[in-house]
Amino acid sequence: MKKFITEHQSPYLDLTTEASEILYRGHSDFQDIVVADSKEFGRMLVLDGVFQTSVKDEFMYHESIIHIPLFLHPNPKRVLIIGGGDGGSAREAVRHPEVESVAMVDIDGKVIELSKQYFPEISKAMLEENPKLTVTVGDGIAFMRQAENYYDVIIVDCSDPVGPGEGLFTYDFYKDTFKALKDDGIFVQQTESPFMHGKLVKDVFDCVSDIFPIARLYTAFIPLYPSGMHCFTLGSKKYDPLQWTPNRKRTFPTRYYNEGIQQSAFVLPNFVKDLLYGKADR
Ligand code: SAM
Repeated sequence: MKKFITEHQSPYLDLTTEASEILYRGHSDFQDIVVADSKEFGRMLVLDGVFQTSVKDEFMYHESIIHIPLFLHPNPKRVLIIGGGDGGSAREAVRHPEVESVAMVDIDGKVIELSKQYFPEISKAMLEENPKLTVTVGDGIAFMRQAENYYDVIIVDCSDPVGPGEGLFTYDFYKDTFKALKDDGIFVQQTESPFMHGKLVKDVFDCVSDIFPIARLYTAFIPLYPSGMHCFTLGSKKYDPLQWTPNRKRTFPTRYYNEGIQQSAFVLPNFVKDLLYGKADR
């Protein structure tokens, strides 16, 4: 009999793919976890019924969430990743020669353990115990509260704003993030789809605009996620992505990211501009 895995993307829309095998099905203290080999996306991680990552398209997400802020910063030495338990963001961050340390804080040790077991390509930096990387199992909200003036770049590679990820989408959390960054620090969070989750995108953008002198939104194509049009919200204390010019040479190959995308990712369609700024701005 055929097996399928499904994400209910909205009350009216599902994404279903045929699975050749369900490799793991269980739950941690925080969430239900499924690992499956899908016929369309390769091996996939599913948390609380939401598709998190797939071997086939993960590079689109991880390169977008990491390389855009890291190449915006002229000298990113200390990076903090909140969430990111599959290890893909950490894998990309350690590739930057300027980066001296990457601290990753995920609330769910089970996701980390299963990612190392079932996703060796994605969790590579964790598996190989990359010397730049420190992995902590803990709540990113509490971790951020005690950090001050320390990080060059903070990445919030979180699940959706339900369950343990809910508090990562609040004004207080963004205030703590601002405090944890150095004077020229940059913050990026994955913020779902502007096509499907307009209210969330607008709410986060308003908070970040209120707290950071520079707030920008950028998009990437990620086939696994609702609508395929995903966005990231960026808050910056000094460097404006709209003024970016190359500040150093990229020393490693990428599959999605390039210097054109560093700029074009911030070019927004009018319906997204309307969502963020109102219709008056175009
Ligand atoms: N790329 C993914 C996406 O957009 O769907 C996110 C992947 S990553 C697996 C999300 C991680 O966020 C999970 O491992 C989850 O445990 C972690 N997480 C959720 N809430 C958290 C919190 N409060 N503190 C730290 N990590 C958290």
